[in-house]
Amino acid sequence: MRPAFDRGVKTLAHSLDSATRQALQDRVRFYRDLGLTEFYRRPVNPELLAQLTAEPDEPQPEPEPQTFQLEEPTIPLRKPFPVVPAIAPAVPAAERAAAMQLIREELGECTRCALHKGRNKLVFGDGSPTARLMFVGEGPGADEDSQGLPFVGKAGQLLNNMIAAMGLKREEVYIANVVKCRPPNNRVPEPEEGATCSPFLFRQIDVVRPEVLVALGATAATWLLGTRQPLAGLRGRVHAMRGTRLIVTYHPAYLLRDPRQKKEAWADLQIAMKELGLKLPAKS
Ligand code: URA
Repeated sequence: MRPAFDRGVKTLAHSLDSATRQALQDRVRFYRDLGLTEFYRRPVNPELLAQLTAEPDEPQPEPEPQTFQLEEPTIPLRKPFPVVPAIAPAVPAAERAAAMQLIREELGECTRCALHKGRNKLVFGDGSPTARLMFVGEGPGADEDSQGLPFVGKAGQLLNNMIAAMGLKREEVYIANVVKCRPPNNRVPEPEEGATCSPFLFRQIDVVRPEVLVALGATAATWLLGTRQPLAGLRGRVHAMRGTRLIVTYHPAYLLRDPRQKKEAWADLQIAMKELGLKLPAKS
């Protein structure tokens, strides 16, 4: 049986002209992609609710124009920030690759935000869907955009070195970004873009269920924690996030510009290692 919201929308759609109906269906699909399926403000008008959830027996006659007036808009205005879908149930380890593939298929040749216009390749994610450790960056750069893989340019080289220093292989971790298409000139993703794309990241996190998540830079930290704060105040400790532990550190691109901060980043990664029970290097 179709969910109530779906049936309700279908019933409502019978009483709308075709252009409005199409626009409504597109909007509902868009909200569903974001993980939003509750569209009614409370208190709900019981008559309206009954009308919306009833299954139509036969096609409805075209109504007179303006006969269907809602006191309030059924769909609230879009709020670009924050959009955090509920945590999805755990996926058994053997099914995580398939679950990840489903998210990829749902993204498809995404045109949900303006970033798709400048994209060569969508950068979904890379690594093991059963990883204990997951890294989240900001968004693809030029190299990632041409290869369709995250962190494969200069910043990626440094990230690979950081992963190796932790005693891990890149294939053992999972890597993704807040947005999956390259922002023009590598600018920070707009709130609208992050709000549109990050629900897919949250779903990837829910599939991997990493024991530790590392936010690389302020953009990743902002979208993962849902709060905009200076990086300095977020580093050096463990945050509870989406049923896992989040550690915030500098973005590798920033470390390339200011290598003096590598020591600080290494201290953050050692917190991650401790949380994972990995052997810490002997102090020199
Ligand atoms: N910077 C990011 O934030 N992500 C990438 O994938 C590459 C560079």
